[in-house]
Order: sequence, then C-alpha cells, then structure tokens
Amino acid sequence: MSAIPTDLFLDGRFSSELNRRRTTLINPATEEPFAEVAAAEPADVDSAVESAHRAWETGWRDLAPGKRTEILFAVSRKLREHVEDIAQLERQQMGKPIADARDEAALGARVFEYYAGAVTKFGGQTIPVSRGGLDFTLRQSIGVVAAIVPWNFPFPIACWKAAPALAAGNCVVLKPASLSPLTALKLGELAHAAGLPPGVLQVLPGSGAAVGDALVTHPRIRKVSFTGSTEVGRRIMELAARDLKRVSLELGGKSPNIVFADSDWKRAAETSPMSVFANTGQDCCARSRMFVERTIFEPFVEQFVAATRKLVVGDPSQESTQLGPMVSAAQRLLVEEFLADARKQGSAFACGGGRSHPRGWYLDPTVLLDVGLADRCWREEIFGPVVVITPFDDEVTMLNEVNASPYGLSGSIWTNDLSRALRVVRAVESGVLSVNSHSSVHVEAPFGGFKQSGLGRDLGMAAMEGYTELKNVYVAG
Ligand code: NAP
Ligand code: MG
Repeated sequence: MSAIPTDLFLDGRFSSELNRRRTTLINPATEEPFAEVAAAEPADVDSAVESAHRAWETGWRDLAPGKRTEILFAVSRKLREHVEDIAQLERQQMGKPIADARDEAALGARVFEYYAGAVTKFGGQTIPVSRGGLDFTLRQSIGVVAAIVPWNFPFPIACWKAAPALAAGNCVVLKPASLSPLTALKLGELAHAAGLPPGVLQVLPGSGAAVGDALVTHPRIRKVSFTGSTEVGRRIMELAARDLKRVSLELGGKSPNIVFADSDWKRAAETSPMSVFANTGQDCCARSRMFVERTIFEPFVEQFVAATRKLVVGDPSQESTQLGPMVSAAQRLLVEEFLADARKQGSAFACGGGRSHPRGWYLDPTVLLDVGLADRCWREEIFGPVVVITPFDDEVTMLNEVNASPYGLSGSIWTNDLSRALRVVRAVESGVLSVNSHSSVHVEAPFGGFKQSGLGRDLGMAAMEGYTELKNVYVAG
C-alpha cells in the first residue's frame, strides 16, 4: 500500500509546513488512530485561492480544449492505476467495505473519463434572432470554484465536482470533510502526477467552521459547490448571497420506496434492504421511508426482515463484508438518539436496534414499524442504518404523505402497471427516481434534489452547465 498523504496539497505538491495543527484520524472499525493530517487555516485558504486564481487566469482557462481533454483522460488513467490505493485509504478513514470502496474509486476514474470527453462536445448555440445578423452563445468558465464535500462518499463526490469544473475551464479548491481528507489529497497528488498544472486543483483539509467559512466568503471564489447537510447548505447560501456567488447544493434526503401489490414485490423485498442500509445508511439517497400496499404488507415485511438478517456486517477489509461500522462514535450516537425516540413513541423494532460488535462503531441494521407521521424517525433524515415501513391503502393519500417531506432527493417505485408508474413518477417531488430499481447515480445523468434537498445538479451535461457562464453575442449582419 502506498504512503498515507498527510499534508495540504497546494500548487502541485504536498506542503510540509511543520507547525500546522493536525487532526487525528481514527479507523472506525478498530477505533485505533492511524494518521495525523494537517489542518488548513484561513491564511492557507487565502494563498490557495490566490494561486488557483493565477492558474486560471494565466493558463487553464485558455488552454485549447483538446489539450484539456488529453490531461483529464490522463488523470482518469492514473486514478484507474491506483484504484486499490484509493480504496484502502477510504476503508481506513471511514470504515467503508473494501468492495464498495473499489467500486467508488473506479467510479471516480469514470467520472474523469466522461468529462474528458465532454470538453470537446459541450458548447454554445447559434440563435436565429428576429432582426437578422448572427447571434450565438458562448459557454465560458466561471473562475475559481470551491468544492466542499462530505465524508459518506468522499472520493466519488470529490471527483464529480472537480472533473466537470475542470473540464469547463475552472480551477478548483477542494475541501474534504474533516473525517475523510485522505482520498481527496490522493486525488490532488494523482491528478498532478498525470499532468494537471500546479494550482489548478488545490486540496485543503481543515474544519468546516475555519476553512469552509473562509472559502465561501473569499472574494475570488466565484462558485461554491457543496454536498452535505441541509443546515450547512443553508448557511453557505446565506454567505454566498453577499456577493452573489453561484451555488450548487446537494443536501439531505428522506427518500421514499413505494411498493405496489402488482409489482414483483418479492424482488423488491429482497433488494430493498441494501437501498437503505448500504454504506451503513449514511447515504443521502437512502430509501429510508417505505410505503408498502396493505394487501402485501405482512409478507413483504417478513421477507424484508429476513433479507436484512442475511446482510454481512463486519470487518471492512473482508471482501464479503456488505456493511461496515458507522463513520464516527458521534454519528452513531446521533442515530441512537433517534432509536431512543422510536422506543419512547412505542414503535416496533422488527429487527436491529442494538450494537452487536464489541469493537468499532457498528450499529445493527434496524427496521421500525408503527412509526407515527409526526415522529422524528418518520420526518427527519437519520443518516444511519434505520428504515421505517408503513402500509398504505390508496395511491393519492400515499403520495400526499410522500410529498409532505421537505426533502426531495431520490426514490423508488415498484409496479408492473406502466400507466401507474408514469403517473407516480410525475407526482413524486424528487430529483432522482427509479422504477423497479434502486439505482440513483449514473455518471451520464443529472443528479440532485427538489425542495430542501438542494439546488443545481451534479453529473451528466447538467453539471457542465452549472460550471459555466452563458454569454450571448450578437453580430450585426
Ligand atoms: P456537514 O456538516 O454539512 O459537512 C459537509 C462538509 O461541509 C464537510 O466538508 C464539512 O467540514 C463542511 N462544513 C461544515 N461546516 C461548514 C461551514 N460552516 N461552512 C462551510 N463548510 C462547512 O455534514 P456532516 O457533518 O458531514 O454530516 C451531517 C449531516 O449532513 C448528516 O447526518 C446528513 O444529514 C447530511 N449529509 C448529507 C450528505 C449528502 O450526500 N446529501 C452527505 C453527508 C452528510 P467538516 O467535516 O470539517 O465539518
Ligand atoms: Mg458537520
């Protein structure tokens, strides 16, 4: 395994300033410290942003598109060569099962590949304006983009913000979450080893309060692209409003999983546990509210619980492990507060609810029934391995309940009735939906939320739009 990166990545190299404060990283599966990572201060933010701005103004912005394509393809190849290194870092810092960590590392490489190709396929239009002459639009880079990312999918989210921003000609200052800086630092190192010029991608670990605020308010930052909690997203939007910075926000969710009796509901019961428990439930797309048609409710729950009991919870370094620990002791405590509330409200625990591992921040996958619509577990994002399942009788009442949530990120609909599928797809207020599937993320398709789940879109060509300014030019004929 390659060395663990522990310093800020600035101007194309690790900055080994000795007297920086350091954050201790703890392996969630063993509760043992394993690395001390430098934490940036506001002064580091200033110099990182200034030099990213110079890199944009003096080179990256005006680089021939073909050259940018070539460099981003080289980055993608380099990431592919290092999938194992990236995966092992992710496993250590956030307890992610190694098979998932490898898939996510490979996903990051695919994201760079997609946007390398997009550089030469994304442009403006010519418009037949009514007064004649020639009218056309240009898609131009915005400037320096701050990308602030969370700890749940640290590597792919860093890639799906950095790659389209860079492809569109921006420079990027990336701030990883305090719990998961290592794969972001590795991305900086590998991208520059592959030929990305110094300063074009800066990586600044450090606390949200210190680094995050300094980034969001820095006058040279022209766009903030954020994934994380709705609470921090709201604060970022308020701060960005002062000088009208562009923002895109990927926030929380409380996504529905709707199962109609006419569907292949046995397959839904078999596959749905991983739609909420994967990544130990720390997933903004987790299908954490299940609506099951009453005529199949009992056998469905029985099969769902049986499938949940079969999940392999354990050591993230084992190939067969499906669920690892939670990311931190604090995150587990937050989830346990929700479970205490469920007990107080008299909800039924069909399975889970406890800790069955002596070491590591594990929490058993938990299925809650009889949860009231006003209860915290029904209304709030839990961000842990907990699902609530409720029966429904009619489509209209069920859809009203689905849309009563302030969130609208993703969701699944299980039915074999085509017109019902299309009707429900149109009715659910959500940015990402799947029918007879739980898939939410496709590199080529837009990803993002309605309502308080966010603003703007990651991935696909929609992300390229979000990282460009649109300029209209009229030439008299
Ligand atoms: P968070 O606090 O919103 O953190 C996300 C990122 O924002 C981290 O890099 C964080 O840095 C940074 N940050 C924190 N405060 C900031 C500020 N004032 N200004 C700028 N950046 C700031 O989320 P979290 O603590 O990781 O998790 C809390 C909750 O967020 C979860 O329980 C869940 O509800 C939600 N969440 C959603 C997603 C999603 O994909 N939609 C992902 C993760 C979490 P630090 O790590 O240094 O605080
Ligand atoms: Mg936080």
